[in-house]
Amino acid sequence: MAGFFSKIFSKFKKSPKIDWDELEADLISADLGVRRAMSIVEDLQDRKDVDAETIVDATRAVIRSAFPVQAPTLPRPEEGRPCVVIVVGVNGTGKTTSAAKLAHHLQKQGKRVLLAAADTFRAAAVEQLETWANRLSVPLYKGNANQDPASVCYEAHTRALREQADYLICDTAGRLHTRHNLMEELSKIRRTIAKQDDTAPHATILVVDATTGGNALMQAREFHKATPLDSVIITKLDGSGKGGIAVAIKDELGISPMYLGTGEGADDLEPFDRDRYVDSLL
Ligand code: GDP
Repeated sequence: MAGFFSKIFSKFKKSPKIDWDELEADLISADLGVRRAMSIVEDLQDRKDVDAETIVDATRAVIRSAFPVQAPTLPRPEEGRPCVVIVVGVNGTGKTTSAAKLAHHLQKQGKRVLLAAADTFRAAAVEQLETWANRLSVPLYKGNANQDPASVCYEAHTRALREQADYLICDTAGRLHTRHNLMEELSKIRRTIAKQDDTAPHATILVVDATTGGNALMQAREFHKATPLDSVIITKLDGSGKGGIAVAIKDELGISPMYLGTGEGADDLEPFDRDRYVDSLL
């Protein structure tokens, strides 16, 4: 992940005089958000003898303090009640891959997991999840082509209850045509899942792609208006030296990441840890 931030800071190592506007612009282009970038610069301007190291330290402190000490985690399943997780996001962000990685991650912890392929509008998405499920030996529930996603989730939930799964992870359709449609679709999924357990769904997680910067923030904003989000998975941090988007999303929407996607492999999913995250950025 490192790269972008180190490039910024090494620039200031070479020149003895800090160009504050340039620093602010660089921090904004690292997707940190205008407010955070300004607060880092204002804080530094109040100090004497600012050098590259001071800039790194101040940036580190500000990014770190944006996140809670304890990152969000999935609720534990209760006896006989699977923890139902809905994975949402725009196509191409890595939603399906992340749903599969999450299932694998939980299975490695000895949990019984069921995946549901509820992105029924794209046959390719169902096939892709099936390929992952086979490769990782995770049971999969899939509906028919064009079956209502809410009905796939309902049937998958029935199976998860019957088989006493610990977790049901639903990969949902990622269309963002209009906010109204999205809201309707997601609230129908929520209502349908709640029919068999009124405490469910237990977590709704948005997947965003770090390399898309401001678009990721816009998607987070739209999805959060459409359905309450509990957390976010930020993918492709291996392909982006920026990663500041996690800070911008936290600042605007109050949602911290639960996991970070760091590659295309099944094990490339890391639980979010603010110290590790800051170290990888700077
Ligand atoms: P979806 O359309 O949102 O379900 O996205 P997919 O799961 O199909 O992923 C789109 C592409 O992104 C695929 O080629 C994935 O292998 C890739 N991908 C997903 N997560 C990551 C990640 O963390 N890092 C990298 N480098 N690629 C990823």
